[in-house]
Amino acid sequence: MSTQSARRIDIYDYVQPPTCISCGKLIVAGERAVSFYCPQCGVAVIWRCSKCRSQITSYTCPNCGFTGP
Ligand SMILES: [Zn+2]
Ligand SMILES: [Zn+2]
Repeated sequence: MSTQSARRIDIYDYVQPPTCISCGKLIVAGERAVSFYCPQCGVAVIWRCSKCRSQITSYTCPNCGFTGP
């Protein structure tokens, strides 16, 4: 078990399941969610659940702060 003493943003964190960037919901297996790299910095991976994707909810990149549809 890991501790939370040194929490940091890690884009290559395979332990944590992906969460929707817009609503924070966990992305479950089988869901038609999408993931893509931030169009501005190309570093952070943006996850969006099927609901936010269909509603075109805006997101904010955790790396560079880019906001987009
Ligand atoms: Zn969502
Ligand atoms: Zn970015």
